[in-house]
Amino acid sequence: MTFADLGLSTKVLKAVAAAGYEKPTPIQEQAIPFALQGRDVLGIAQTGTGKTASFVLPMLTRLEKGRARARMPRSLILTPTRELAAQVADSFKTYGAEHKLTMALLIGGVSFEEQSKKLDKGADILIATPGRLLDHFKRGKLLLTGVEILVIDEADRMLDMGFIPDIEEICKLLPFTRQTLFFSATMPPEIQRLVDNFLHLPARIEIAPPSTTAKTITQKFKMVSADPKTKRKQLREIIGTLTDLTNAIVFCNRKRDVEILFRSLKKHGFNAGALHGDMDQFSRTKTLEAFRKGEITMLAASDVAARGLDIPEVSHVLNYDVPVHAEDYVHRIGRTGRAGRKGAAFTLVTPEDAKALKAIEELIGKELSWLGEPPSEADFEQRPSQNRRRSEGSSKSNSRAKSRSAQTKEKASAKSSRTKNRNTTKKTAANKSAKTDERNRRKTRKRSEQPVVGMGDHVPAFLMRSVRSL
Ligand code: ADP
Ligand code: MG
Repeated sequence: MTFADLGLSTKVLKAVAAAGYEKPTPIQEQAIPFALQGRDVLGIAQTGTGKTASFVLPMLTRLEKGRARARMPRSLILTPTRELAAQVADSFKTYGAEHKLTMALLIGGVSFEEQSKKLDKGADILIATPGRLLDHFKRGKLLLTGVEILVIDEADRMLDMGFIPDIEEICKLLPFTRQTLFFSATMPPEIQRLVDNFLHLPARIEIAPPSTTAKTITQKFKMVSADPKTKRKQLREIIGTLTDLTNAIVFCNRKRDVEILFRSLKKHGFNAGALHGDMDQFSRTKTLEAFRKGEITMLAASDVAARGLDIPEVSHVLNYDVPVHAEDYVHRIGRTGRAGRKGAAFTLVTPEDAKALKAIEELIGKELSWLGEPPSEADFEQRPSQNRRRSEGSSKSNSRAKSRSAQTKEKASAKSSRTKNRNTTKKTAANKSAKTDERNRRKTRKRSEQPVVGMGDHVPAFLMRSVRSL
């Protein structure tokens, strides 16, 4: 099967050839013919499978007929992040090199004025993040009644970022007769509901189960300390053993840790950069550009900032944290081993990660491969904030890494029982002691597998982490 067999226009075929693509990827092969017919398409395929071209190419072909009117874009592409929007815009430039179609980008962090000017001139293609699009619409700068084609890219990421209500709102503003092309790597129930509500008899194309991770990626897990300082040191030790590392993304679960890790990597002489959702557009673009050029070789990043980004040739993905959602693991390691290249992913695991790890193992459907000795169940039983047993020296992995917070808590608990024994009548002390006792009771109950109390197993991961005392 070649691109020419798919029914794309001559102009598009020329640009695709210039981009050096020899043949369509599976999602392109299957989605493009339906998209060209004007059918709605639901495309489920993992990162790096070529989804962008599977909607951009047929859109270009279809948009060749007709012209844009002021403030009335003819097509709308929604992406969860600014980076993705910018990336899709780049694809339009590449694949639309032979076209004279106009494009506007509506993303946060860029001035409204400039964006409005572009809209006023008329845009064939509007690429936007949901929030910014609604802002423009509410200011009366935009009419959505001329939209013939709607694309929703990375729908599952939109869900993670809380954009579903925005998307529903936007869908209701568009003409009923539009064509919708919808892409997602996974299909959680909320996404399915969106599809049921806003797609009309879609052609469903599923490329590989969303759980599969590319075979070209070597995946290794390593048991490390939960203490941040030790953990960072262990990360550096792993990096030191990776002789084939040319560049890497280091994923953290939280923005704050991205910053801390970034500074630490820099301090230890790495060409490091940081990418997270709180950074302004200018710094993000600058960092990404430097990473692409190889000026930065270690990019500390959060999931939000990195999902779907097309960063070619990442030799390694390092998960500084085990992702809370197993799907994110698949997305993260999808940054490496793209387009059949070899890649490697290393994940640092702490005693707190038992649940998240199990979910990953289930999702990828294979046994995890460990660097060093695989952990036993006992290694996961202790939590740094509940490490009485660890301090007795029974923990294999972390006996020395007793966190400061745990020490503080133990001190507090000892103090409170002393207070209690002395039968003090001081109200505050009694209060404090009662609270500490209750906390200790809860811990003991949990350890001895008694009925679940409070949030039980559903305590969000961030609450389970050790707290650093100042
Ligand atoms: P996804 O959106 O599924 O994560 P992208 O559309 O970003 O994937 O494409 C991933 C990479 O594959 C990009 O670098 C892109 O240029 C490249 N690519 C896409 N289609 C083809 C093709 N048919 N042949 C070769 N490379 C391709
Ligand atoms: Mg994509």
